[in-house]
Amino acid sequence: MLATTERTTVRQRPQRGSHDPDLIAAILDEALTCTVAFVDDGRPVSIPTTHWRMGERVLFHGGMGSRLGRMMAAGADLCVTVTLVDGLVLARSAFHHSMNYRSVVLFGQAEEISGPAEKEAALAALIEKLTPGRYASVRPPTQKELAATRLLALPIAEGSAKVRSGPPVDDEADMSWPVWAGVVPVAVVKGEPVAG
Ligand SMILES: Cc1cc2nc3c(=O)[nH]c(=O)nc-3n(C[C@H](O)[C@H](O)[C@H](O)COP(=O)(O)OP(=O)(O)OC[C@H]3O[C@@H](n4cnc5c(N)ncnc54)[C@H](O)[C@@H]3O)c2cc1C
Repeated sequence: MLATTERTTVRQRPQRGSHDPDLIAAILDEALTCTVAFVDDGRPVSIPTTHWRMGERVLFHGGMGSRLGRMMAAGADLCVTVTLVDGLVLARSAFHHSMNYRSVVLFGQAEEISGPAEKEAALAALIEKLTPGRYASVRPPTQKELAATRLLALPIAEGSAKVRSGPPVDDEADMSWPVWAGVVPVAVVKGEPVAG
């Protein structure tokens, strides 16, 4: 288990919270995107980006000029969130509508990875996450391309997961209300490839 810290204590509906590293890893692996939040010049900013996991670290990449990469490389305090929406929970009352989800919140500081071999292995892992088996077929990055790419790693050390699943939870008094209730599943699916 990850240690539960003051800021990773799940307060509302704590039974949905978890600090299980395997659950956190599974959510990180399934999600294609995350948001990275930090404070820049006293103001909060949250930037959507791509992430992938290698062992006990989450990786991020970007051009050398991007603010996100610069802030991460400078050791900014980060809060990374990942959300998978699994369903719309349609209750009998407006009040009890909800969503089924699996989400992760991570805190920490990233470290820049600058060795070319480590960079290439990490970028290969990104392509393999998105399309398993593809890296062996593509042109590998040149030294110039590697130098132009900033790579950062955030340890999965302080964080939490939260999961809601199952049907709506209606009040007993609403159970005979004449409306359909249940869950509409939601999923991200890959469509038919379109050559380009
Ligand atoms: C798809 C989706 C829809 C949601 N819709 C709503 C909504 O409409 N209204 C609403 O109030 N809440 C919603 N939530 C839940 C929301 O994420 C918080 O859990 C909720 O606001 C309760 O936070 P808190 O005040 O107990 O904890 P906070 O004090 O905000 O958080 C304390 C700590 O608990 C952990 N934590 C809290 N929430 C999560 C989470 N979702 N995933 C992982 N770790 C978490 C983090 O470590 C955080 O630092 C939704 C979540 C998801 C994923």
